[in-house]
Amino acid sequence: MNEFEIIQRYFKQPTTNNNVIVGIGDDAAVINIPKDKQLVLCMDTLVSGIHFPIETKPEDIAYKSLAVNLSDMAAMGATPSWITLSLTIPENDLQWIEIFAKQFHALANEYALSLIGGDLSRGPMSVTVQLQGLITPTCSLLRSGAKPGDDIYVSGTLGAAAFALKSLIEPQQWGHATNEELLRLNRPKPRLTLSQKLLGNATSCIDISDGLVADLLHVLHEGNIGAEVIVDKLPISTSIKKLDRATCYELALTGGDDYELCFTLPELMSSEAIEQLNQVCPITKIGKIIEQKELVLKNSDDEKINLPKSGYKHF
Ligand code: ADP
Ligand code: MG
Repeated sequence: MNEFEIIQRYFKQPTTNNNVIVGIGDDAAVINIPKDKQLVLCMDTLVSGIHFPIETKPEDIAYKSLAVNLSDMAAMGATPSWITLSLTIPENDLQWIEIFAKQFHALANEYALSLIGGDLSRGPMSVTVQLQGLITPTCSLLRSGAKPGDDIYVSGTLGAAAFALKSLIEPQQWGHATNEELLRLNRPKPRLTLSQKLLGNATSCIDISDGLVADLLHVLHEGNIGAEVIVDKLPISTSIKKLDRATCYELALTGGDDYELCFTLPELMSSEAIEQLNQVCPITKIGKIIEQKELVLKNSDDEKINLPKSGYKHF
């Protein structure tokens, strides 16, 4: 099967009207941007052996490559609509492509997204997804904006994805991950519903891809502020509580791949409003924004704790 046939067979979808004027099949796609909206764009590349172990299944690669971009859209408060996909694979393995495409379309359909174009080439395996979404002008969530006194929150739980990755790479040291932990690594749930509720409430927001410390540092840098985080308050994934406490903190603080949101809320936000957010998805207050430009980790006895080396570095 040639490249054109593969695209027609596995990637072309029945046309939806999602403002798509020209979809897959021409030299480029054309979409209609509603007059009262702004376009939000993000792109993430997953490279085999760098961002996922080479044995990762095609369905998991498909899911994650789209989910990590959806998480970026969530971090911005945007509503994703359109996808472009650049797929580089070592050979025309039709079975691999079929499984990949099926899962990719399934997740896209879950969020009513249209795949409107892309590229297909031969080479070392890598998947690049670009998402296009919409926001109402001036209603985005940004990394900047947190102010001293704001409370710092994270959604969901932290640490299980990092544990699963370590267990795949060094099973002798870490043991085997449970199915639940592997799902946290391979199938992150983008926090899009929560993110819509954060619009107009949160003063800053970022998604946790490289680890809480590394990502919170971006928020601190952008806002010219610091933070105090109480490590005993971190929402550690129940499944990794079998590990010793220091390891749990280390995974939650520096392990990547959680794709939860870290956001700040004004100190005076009502407990009813916070409870409403909590109804959408569990959120946990982990600390406060401070004026001094440093990140201080403390335990609940107010004792300082050493900062672990920053989160996962790609280079
Ligand atoms: P060109 O050579 O002009 O770049 P291509 O053969 O790469 O054209 O692509 C033909 C059409 O198929 C384009 O509309 C392109 O967006 C789409 N396409 C190519 N690869 C993919 C893919 N992996 N997923 C979705 N659409 C794709
Ligand atoms: Mg092309």
